[in-house]
Amino acid sequence: MPVTQKIAPGRLFIGGQWVDAVAANTFTTVNPATEEPITQVAEGRAEDIDRAVKAARQAFEGPWAGVSAADRGRLLWKMADLIESRLAEIAEVETLDSGKTITESSRVDVPMAADCFRYFAGWATKIEGETIPVRAPCFSYTLREPLGVVGQIIPWNFPILLAAWKVAPALAAGNTIVLKPAEQTPLTALRLAGIAEEAGLPPGVLNVVTGFGPTAGAALVDHPGVDKIAFTGSTAVGQEIMRRAAGSLKRLTLELGGKSPNIVFADADLDLAVRGASNGIFYNKGEVCTAGSRLFVEESLHDALLDRLSAFTAKLQQGDPLDPKTRLGPQVSEGQMNRVLSYVDKGKGEGARLVAGGSRAPGKGYFVRPTIFDDVQNGMTIAREEIFGPVLSVLRFRDLDEVVRAANDTPYGLAAAVWTKDIKKAHRAARLLKSGTVWINTYGLYDSAMPFGGYKMSGFGRELGRHGLLEYTQTKSVWVDLS
Ligand code: ADP
Repeated sequence: MPVTQKIAPGRLFIGGQWVDAVAANTFTTVNPATEEPITQVAEGRAEDIDRAVKAARQAFEGPWAGVSAADRGRLLWKMADLIESRLAEIAEVETLDSGKTITESSRVDVPMAADCFRYFAGWATKIEGETIPVRAPCFSYTLREPLGVVGQIIPWNFPILLAAWKVAPALAAGNTIVLKPAEQTPLTALRLAGIAEEAGLPPGVLNVVTGFGPTAGAALVDHPGVDKIAFTGSTAVGQEIMRRAAGSLKRLTLELGGKSPNIVFADADLDLAVRGASNGIFYNKGEVCTAGSRLFVEESLHDALLDRLSAFTAKLQQGDPLDPKTRLGPQVSEGQMNRVLSYVDKGKGEGARLVAGGSRAPGKGYFVRPTIFDDVQNGMTIAREEIFGPVLSVLRFRDLDEVVRAANDTPYGLAAAVWTKDIKKAHRAARLLKSGTVWINTYGLYDSAMPFGGYKMSGFGRELGRHGLLEYTQTKSVWVDLS
């Protein structure tokens, strides 16, 4: 029996109950590798969001407030264990729903999601206030309190992992949650809800409402009972969320788009740089907000690097994402594939030189061939706009100053990388690059302990690490008269 037939329809998880949407609507989630339906999922709308927010509020004011920090930590730890014990199943569902390779989902996404819960489990008991010496004869101290009900909206490129990045710190800090996964990839968030239930999280602490952005997502942003929105997705939707959240002055963290420069100096280790350039753009078929989509190569290394990179790319196996040998799966949806292909057309139209790929792969599935454009100018559309697909722009440069200027000449500032053996040049570049992350002689590393987030129009706020935890807290100052 094909695996897809094993997946039961998805219901909403609200107040600890699995329920249908009030309007009883459902939508189909599709396997992008086969174009076949996987299952039906409940389509939550404003009235479902309202129920979920009320359940989250009740849990926040009620049972969750009575759970000690140590017990919150134990619950998170248990969720980590449960994710690990279901690793193979969750990874398979993730691959079916998103098209990412099974190697990535089983070796990276799901283990890192478990790690994130375990990391934040440790933080639950370490959220401390301060005593502060003030002028008045007072005992003055601060309390770090949770925000309340947080709405979390996640995208389709790392569904379980980005859910973990948001859910784990919010729970560690004592908040309750309404989570809305992306409509393209709703299935693993529902698995996470099942795990929360099994771990013994009190009803209403984590609610999952599947549905569409303009209905369910927007209702969450508009809801007056929500204290914060944590969003990862496109810059355009981030701007819309910021406008709408102004109405009730919600706290926001926004992790948005990128057009990250990957800079290779002539003195770089060529083998490592080729691998880094390829991983930088083709990992998760380019559907990565930190994708190294602008590859800047120092003039004298350009031809050698491009030859090697083209040869390396030609060997990447594209196809069935459930096959462990596959390196490149399909784009997440037909719409996304078409969007990527329209950028390929723009690249050709604006005079960039196509050296690899540039088309849809034949047969079923939304596969776009790994694509490399050479002779790209930084002003071209393919060098300015986020494509979110396996399309690399190669640009040349002569020296550090020139490349830093070009690299920073973008509205985005999510990540950047530098490849060089010169330690001074590497660290100078790290300081000059306007981005939330800089990798030196590596690409795409993450850790639950290391803060992640954007500069400029890539958003604000940080996820992961202590910084990520504090985004889910607020400070109360308490004054006690001692005179
Ligand atoms: P993409 O355009 O690549 O699908 P989005 O930024 O639109 O990426 O989607 C990221 C998440 O934001 C998804 O969960 C989506 O449902 C949600 N979303 C989309 N539009 C809105 C909106 N207007 N308000 C709130 N959430 C939204």
